[in-house]
Amino acid sequence: LAEQAWEHRNQAAVTTDGHRLEVGANLGDTAKTAAAVESGAEGVGLLRTEFVFMGRSQAPDLAQQQAEYDKAFTVLNGRPLVARTLDVGGDKPLPYWPVPKEDNPFLGVRGIRLCMQQPELLETQLRALLTAAGDRPLRIMFPMVADWSEWRFAKEMFERVQAEVQAADVQLGIMVEVPSAALNAQLFAQDADFFSIGTNDLTQYTLAADRGNGELAALSDGLHPAVLRLIAMTVEAAHAQGKWVGVCGELGADPQALPLLLGLGVDEVSVSPGRVPLVKARVRECSLARCKDLAAKALRARDAQTVRALTGEIQ
Ligand code: PEP
Ligand code: MG
Repeated sequence: LAEQAWEHRNQAAVTTDGHRLEVGANLGDTAKTAAAVESGAEGVGLLRTEFVFMGRSQAPDLAQQQAEYDKAFTVLNGRPLVARTLDVGGDKPLPYWPVPKEDNPFLGVRGIRLCMQQPELLETQLRALLTAAGDRPLRIMFPMVADWSEWRFAKEMFERVQAEVQAADVQLGIMVEVPSAALNAQLFAQDADFFSIGTNDLTQYTLAADRGNGELAALSDGLHPAVLRLIAMTVEAAHAQGKWVGVCGELGADPQALPLLLGLGVDEVSVSPGRVPLVKARVRECSLARCKDLAAKALRARDAQTVRALTGEIQ
């Protein structure tokens, strides 16, 4: 299968009944953009921009950031780039950005919360992204949005910068990785252009299970019906407003999860570049109608184990 998947990597991922899923690549470094395109990715579905800020003694300036993003756009050659704004804090501090020690860093000042404390950092990043984009397709999303005020802060800053820079093809989205964002998806969907579900954190916060704690691996399963319910709510709210939904967490690369994500109506998944051909091949084995039936059953299951057993019943 791996060989066949590789051979067809540049073709779209379409189910047996004609439904297309977009497949992008997750990148933690623009140097890997060429490898992503080579593996058949239809764009970058998640650029973890932290790499631009790490390994330095001071924050990168506008030109340094712009040069990084420009590299990715050039290699992508018209394919979309979904960039997540800086997601540090708590457990991932920057040397030039001292943050007070916290007892619970995963529940602390991280992601968009940290950017609200240092608005000029986010402003420079947005300026760099928009300037680098020019007329190339850019999607910007904000990490760890839990509350309306955070989204408003981010969107207003974007609008201020965009009024000056005027990138031609930009969408603004929200990462759904905190349960409150999924629960309030109806509200956010009226105002955001898209959602991207970060299933790594969404699972962690839904089940109160540290994503890095191996002892809790069985509990922190993104196929838990509680997580699937949040995904379903997010998709439903987005589609009611004509907005699209991606999944950029590890769940998108899980062959058992893929039929469920299709069945729940997810429009795009983004996975590590090496997984792109296999994800596309897996989609081609699925029928959307059967995936929908499966998703309906999974939402009524009692636990992740039961959901995983259900997925064995369908091709
Ligand atoms: C996620 O939380 O699922 C996600 C994609 O972001 P990260 O893994 O970088 O936290
Ligand atoms: Mg995350």
